[in-house]
Amino acid sequence: MEALSLNKDFRLRHGGGVVHAVKNVSFGLYASAVVALVGESGSGKSTVAKCLAGQERLSSGSVRLRNEPVKLATRRAFRRYKREVQYVFQDPFASLNPVHTVQYTLAQPVKLHQGRRSRAEVRSAVIDLLEQVHLTPGEQFLAKYPHELSGGQRQRVSFARALAARPTVLLADEPVSMLDVSIRLDMLNLLSELCQSLHLALLYITHDIASARYFADEVLVMYAGEVVERGPAEVLTQQPAHPYTQLLMACSPDPNNLGSTLRRGADRARHDAEPRSNGDVTGCLFSPRCPFADERCREEHPLPTTLSPARVASCWRLGPAPANLSASPGTARPDASVDHRHTRTT
Ligand code: ADP
Ligand code: MG
Repeated sequence: MEALSLNKDFRLRHGGGVVHAVKNVSFGLYASAVVALVGESGSGKSTVAKCLAGQERLSSGSVRLRNEPVKLATRRAFRRYKREVQYVFQDPFASLNPVHTVQYTLAQPVKLHQGRRSRAEVRSAVIDLLEQVHLTPGEQFLAKYPHELSGGQRQRVSFARALAARPTVLLADEPVSMLDVSIRLDMLNLLSELCQSLHLALLYITHDIASARYFADEVLVMYAGEVVERGPAEVLTQQPAHPYTQLLMACSPDPNNLGSTLRRGADRARHDAEPRSNGDVTGCLFSPRCPFADERCREEHPLPTTLSPARVASCWRLGPAPANLSASPGTARPDASVDHRHTRTT
């Protein structure tokens, strides 16, 4: 699946202006690979997923699946598309109907998408799905209601329901955020395993960059609707180039990333996280929170700079990783060394 220059604007009511929820976002999802979309709440991650899932209409841009433009003009086309592109969201409590058993919840998509008819066939397909998400033995879960399951088990049932459609693309929107820390890793391992065994193209949405590092192939960092940095997960998280990525790393629970400058930035940032109209901003959107911002950052929108193949960041003050930083907020960065004139992308 390819997302090409996605844009999504929301008009705020009562003359509140426009929120550019997603701005010029492009990326590709490939079979058996995980792309992580990382950013704080309000950065536009869910809107990207909803645009890909056909739940939000794009303001501009396009989505392609297997090299064909996605057109959802008819109900039939939409149904076919929804089958291939499954969207699983954060809250396993809200996503399952409390009055239906697991058997019922999973039997519906099995009948609809797999064309199974007889009771025995449906039952055995449902059990297979349960075992695929490690709810074993599957029989034991058939008669259970959502309230009889733990959060993790509920999320597994949500995955099983998505898999019932035999999708090629899975959009997992903060799938572990509401779960207990102790079971998040299990859940990510399960997702990773499913991605490989079913050749899923997986979009993993999270505000936790440490988890993206753990299991994504490529990471896209979003801030205020824009992708501010992207690259292979390992390099990007080892040497975050954009100050916002550095901030995320500094706030993540990795003991190797305790940049004190950025921590102070993070404390300031916490007071400034409310989404609001961003229709008339000209400079870098991160500049009000950036410890390195100067005049240019506040006035000119940064252009994407290619740092290495597949590694791009949009910042006027790119420099090496935070380990080398000693500047305090508001002072110049001593080692901003990238020459934008030569490395700018088109
Ligand atoms: P995230 O998933 O990263 O938390 P969202 O995609 O939910 O972010 O939201 C991105 C921005 O778009 C936010 O500022 C949010 O307030 C705004 N937004 C999302 N959905 C709507 C909507 N239906 N109407 C108006 N604004 C919206
Ligand atoms: Mg969201």
